[in-house]
Amino acid sequence: MKDVIENKLKLRSVKPTAMRLLVLQALLNEKKALSLNELETILEHADRTTIFRTLKTFQEKFLVHRVYDGSGMVKYAVCDDDCNCSLQENHLHFLCTKCSTTYCLKDAPIAIPTIPKGFKAKYANYLIEGSCSSCN
Ligand SMILES: [Zn+2]
Ligand SMILES: [Zn+2]
Repeated sequence: MKDVIENKLKLRSVKPTAMRLLVLQALLNEKKALSLNELETILEHADRTTIFRTLKTFQEKFLVHRVYDGSGMVKYAVCDDDCNCSLQENHLHFLCTKCSTTYCLKDAPIAIPTIPKGFKAKYANYLIEGSCSSCN
């Protein structure tokens, strides 16, 4: 597991500090999008500001992407190794309203909608709400 995490950081030219390894490990272990609060709970001894800064670095390097699932807290999910977080690579997110888990539906491609002339899209957030397979 440690190798996988270190390789992921290396691939994105991110120096593997202890905190970065911990945060990435937590995100990979949980297999779902996590909020800063949730990460803080998992990483008991880590400082909130440091976790936040780590997430910001990860986001800049396309290691994680943001998910807005309407819970009021932005969540973070691990990107695939070849992801550059472009609009074309975007995928659906699914919020289970029963267990509050947010999933990345990476196999659900989305057509990019046509937006008015003169507008430039940088980020899009597609969310489906419902109940997940563990809750059904
Ligand atoms: Zn569920
Ligand atoms: Zn995702």
